Amino acid sequence: MAVPKRRTSTTRKNKRRTHFKLQVPGMVKCESCGEYKLAHRVCPECGSYKGEEVVEK
Ligand SMILES: [Zn+2]
Repeated sequence: MAVPKRRTSTTRKNKRRTHFKLQVPGMVKCESCGEYKLAHRVCPECGSYKGEEVVEK
């Protein structure tokens, strides 16, 4: 079984984890109400998509 020769230093460990992000990707502002919503999805606040096209109320 493969065993690591040296233990991973705190610096190396932390450098690796710089890519760990808390933020949810794909958040954009709604064109009509300005709320943050997921990209390519109907806004849950005002029910619009691509500016004006109102799908639901
Ligand atoms: Zn909206």
